[in-house]
Amino acid sequence: MSWSGVYADGISPRLQQLDVEADFDGLQLRGEATREHWRWSDILAVVPLASGEPVRLGHRASAARLRIDDPTAAVALLAHAPSLQRAHRVRSVGRRFSKGIWIRFGLATAALVFVIAIGPDMIAGLMPQSWAARIGDETLRVLAPESKRCTDEAALRVARDLAARLAPTQTIRLEIASLGQPNAVALPGGRIMLSREMVAFARTPQEIAFVLAHELAHEQHNDPLTGFVRVSGMQVLSRVMTGGSGMLGNAGVVAANAPMSRRVEARADSDGMRMLEAANIRHNEIDSFWRRMEAQTGASNGYLASHPSTAARARAATTDSQDGEPPLDAAAWDALKKGCR
Ligand SMILES: [Zn+2]
Repeated sequence: MSWSGVYADGISPRLQQLDVEADFDGLQLRGEATREHWRWSDILAVVPLASGEPVRLGHRASAARLRIDDPTAAVALLAHAPSLQRAHRVRSVGRRFSKGIWIRFGLATAALVFVIAIGPDMIAGLMPQSWAARIGDETLRVLAPESKRCTDEAALRVARDLAARLAPTQTIRLEIASLGQPNAVALPGGRIMLSREMVAFARTPQEIAFVLAHELAHEQHNDPLTGFVRVSGMQVLSRVMTGGSGMLGNAGVVAANAPMSRRVEARADSDGMRMLEAANIRHNEIDSFWRRMEAQTGASNGYLASHPSTAARARAATTDSQDGEPPLDAAAWDALKKGCR
């Protein structure tokens, strides 16, 4: 037996037309957006069922309501479920509605409190390396597709060897690609992207060494993953946790473009300097690097936007040192400049 019914889910105000079919276990509801089975034991009468009268039903476990206007329905339903001749106390739709809202609000608040209480850096610290690597790889893919990458083996070797010399204990994947501006980006999982434009912009190997050391210091402190957690929100994080990777790259690019705090930038500057010193690499004329960068791109673009300049940077320039060796010899510098400009 089947009738046409009107269905309300009790949460949205929308009414749906659907087919109602009685079977041995209960009622089968089939509509465009709804496919439910109500067991006889879960079905409640909003008003007592009476022969020839419209039928008004509720569900024990939800706020959904069903109306069947067909006058033949009541008798047929009573044959299956005689208890429907008595009205039941049916949950108030309003109460159910607000309960759903409150549960959702409560969960969202709990998630927010969790992130604030333990902090993005703690969450980032708890994430397995494999997740960070996946986020980093997806971001690299979106930020610089294969077609934009520098593939010159000799030039890549020079840059990668320099990174390994600066951070011998870190696992780093360094790529060079066109980004449209002189820039360098540290991504989760030890992924670093240096732009061809930065290679072209640099006047000395010291400048490239300085930029790399700064990004490596970010990696050492897990800053890129912390930034990703802070910027991307719970929805993206749950995708990371459940193994999916859709949209991860886009979220990663958004996070990579969000400037880090001045405190984090200052720490990467000073730790980068320490790395240069530990590797016995000369760092001088960093001041001129910053001034030229500001003149070329302006403070709101490229490298300066993602690495907000600070007074500390000006002070860092005064720690310029002529000690140590040049980061690259003439041949290596030439290979880098010619190969990945
Ligand atoms: Zn930075």
